[in-house]
Amino acid sequence: MKRVYIETYGCQMNVADTEIMLSVLQREGFAQTETPDGADLLLVNTCAVRDNAEQRVIGRLGELQRYKPAGGVLGVVGCMAQRLGPLLLERVPKVDIVAGPDAYRNLPALVAAASFGQRTSDTQFRTWEHYEDVPPARETAASAFVTVQRGCDYKCTFCIVPYTRGPERSRRLEDVVREVAGLAEQGTSEVTLLGQTVNSYSDGVHDFADLLRAVGAVGGIRRLRFTSPYPTDFTDRVIEAMATVPAVCEHVHLPVQSGSNAVLRRMLRRYTRERYLEVVAQLRMAIPGITFSTDIIVGFPGESEADFAETLEVVEQVRYDSAFTFIYSPRQGTEAADLPDQVPEDVKHERLERLVDVVQRIAAERNAERVGRVEEVLVEGTSRTDSSLLRGRTRRNTTVVFSGGGQPGELVDVLIDGATSTTLRGRATAAVAA
Ligand code: SF4
Repeated sequence: MKRVYIETYGCQMNVADTEIMLSVLQREGFAQTETPDGADLLLVNTCAVRDNAEQRVIGRLGELQRYKPAGGVLGVVGCMAQRLGPLLLERVPKVDIVAGPDAYRNLPALVAAASFGQRTSDTQFRTWEHYEDVPPARETAASAFVTVQRGCDYKCTFCIVPYTRGPERSRRLEDVVREVAGLAEQGTSEVTLLGQTVNSYSDGVHDFADLLRAVGAVGGIRRLRFTSPYPTDFTDRVIEAMATVPAVCEHVHLPVQSGSNAVLRRMLRRYTRERYLEVVAQLRMAIPGITFSTDIIVGFPGESEADFAETLEVVEQVRYDSAFTFIYSPRQGTEAADLPDQVPEDVKHERLERLVDVVQRIAAERNAERVGRVEEVLVEGTSRTDSSLLRGRTRRNTTVVFSGGGQPGELVDVLIDGATSTTLRGRATAAVAA
């Protein structure tokens, strides 16, 4: 049996794509191996969002090529592969295959060609490609990610995704429901729907509200999440579905990127700070107790101190449970890379530090308010730092480390007795009735 080793970088979409590649390759007789040593095929599934991630991949390819046996194949797949295409074959001479996210069906042919010495790059966009007939090769777990949409039609000026993953396309609702039902049968009780602007989902007949209702109605699915929504794609129908489908969790990851209208305009985000806050208010009104996390970029070209202060204000106003914070890094090929007034590196770092301080203070305050409450936790396994404790997540998507009983996949009530900015601690009090 041939062995394939895949290393995955970047977002959940890449993790889901790795499962698709494994499925394609398993059909061809490949088995997955956890170490590069002895693998016949080595693949690196890459991210293109930040320049330093790409530099790391180039370095890693240099290391991995040492494991490539005679007749073996080394490939780069994912967004960086799509972005650089044949350039990667030039830059890393031992790379045999470069394949973008729409080319995974072709991997067996590319591998076969490579074993005869033909080095190939396939970065063609195939707007029909959903991999519908390729069931992802994934381990059964309490929680699963299900891709419902590929690509993106928005053109945020900082983002490389529209160039690496092509135009937006949604899977058919029936196909998504069939996949989720299969997962539920195997014991999965939490599903996260994935898409670049997931709430703009449309299969031509159904919208995202229909999708939430249909997936939420699958027996055994007790928690339903989605990521990442676009702020202005929360229609009244979507908000109503979120409020009425019991499985939909009271937590939304709602990327804001900046709190300054001037910066949002330059980013080509299609909302103002006021509209964003209105969406937050609408969701809060419809769904009691809903909480938010977000993505924020600091140091976007032209960001003044006053613009940055407006971002801090939004953070204080929304009071996010958590935030992914990034320093703006110009990506060649995106519009923002050519914008004037790039912010000096030292200013970006200093702003990031201030932002992180505010985010962490608020997260710590919000988590401290939860001490003494009982929260429903989906058990995921044992704690990574103390094997006598269990680990799981609340409906608000906060990690909890707790004592007491519970099996992976079970929902248990946990009395919260401690909190940091990122984690809660507690004690299981009872199993939650099915
Ligand atoms: S919505 Fe904007 S940031 Fe998100 S993937 Fe599309 S272009 Fe990128």
